[in-house]
Amino acid sequence: KAIGIDAGGTLTKLAYENEFGELVLEHFPSNDLQAVTDWISNHPEIEEIGLTGGRAEQVKNLLKEVKSIHYIVEFEATLKGVRYQLIQHGHQFDRSIITNVGTGTSIHFMDGETHNRVGGTGIGGGTLVGLAALTTGIYDYHEIIKKAQYGERQEIDLLVQDIYQGMDTPIAGTLTASNFGKMGIDETKNHPIENILATVQGLVGEVITTLSIQLAEQNQVEHIIYIGTTLNENEALKKVIANYTILKKKTPIFLEDHGFSGAIGAFLNI
Ligand code: ATP
Ligand code: MG
Repeated sequence: KAIGIDAGGTLTKLAYENEFGELVLEHFPSNDLQAVTDWISNHPEIEEIGLTGGRAEQVKNLLKEVKSIHYIVEFEATLKGVRYQLIQHGHQFDRSIITNVGTGTSIHFMDGETHNRVGGTGIGGGTLVGLAALTTGIYDYHEIIKKAQYGERQEIDLLVQDIYQGMDTPIAGTLTASNFGKMGIDETKNHPIENILATVQGLVGEVITTLSIQLAEQNQVEHIIYIGTTLNENEALKKVIANYTILKKKTPIFLEDHGFSGAIGAFLNI
């Protein structure tokens, strides 16, 4: 039996086949890698491990028994996984931008069999949790995204139409002119936690999307595939990303099991 492991900055993802040959996906917090290696010890039938991610070496060092390990670099594993997931979803295109919104964000250009890392930003899922925690005191990811969903941004973000009052706007008036920009202009008041969280989420989503769109334009591709656990169960973030991508005349693609491309790729690499 074999298992693919993607040990990331925040979450360690596992991909393996159950007795029915179906792919099973799970994740553990990366700050408790011991839980991962305990899990493996409790599954003695696992003989081969496909391993990737920034914390792969740490996982390897914690493994109690000697297993056959197949290491693959993170970007290779991710792309391998994405190609597999695209086929599973019946998608038929092989030129696209792939934006992996993990703890940080890294952006790849897939062109047939080849791919390159073309960009990235430190704004990612870690920023979402970090800024949310800093501004509201809420650290729990699920609570953050649940509350963000009910928030509104218009009293905190400054829109283009807020600047061009009573005039025609040079670009769509509803675009964000300055994330959090109203805070520095209007008199400060207490904003509901939901609104702060929605605005943090908006900032993260818009930065990632802006960069992805620019790289799509530079490389002349239409499709942008957004992956990473940050998108998991987060319809509000996906909406920010999708709306802005579509506004810029690109096509956003979301795969199921967003966060597991790397683990799937590591599994397939065995
Ligand atoms: P990197 O690839 O940058 O090393 P990673 O692989 O750990 O990091 P992902 O697992 O793709 O990154 O995404 C991590 C992000 O997912 C977190 O920063 C957080 O925003 C979000 N997230 C989703 N579910 C959870 C969860 N259960 N616990 C913590 N974070 C979660
Ligand atoms: Mg990752």
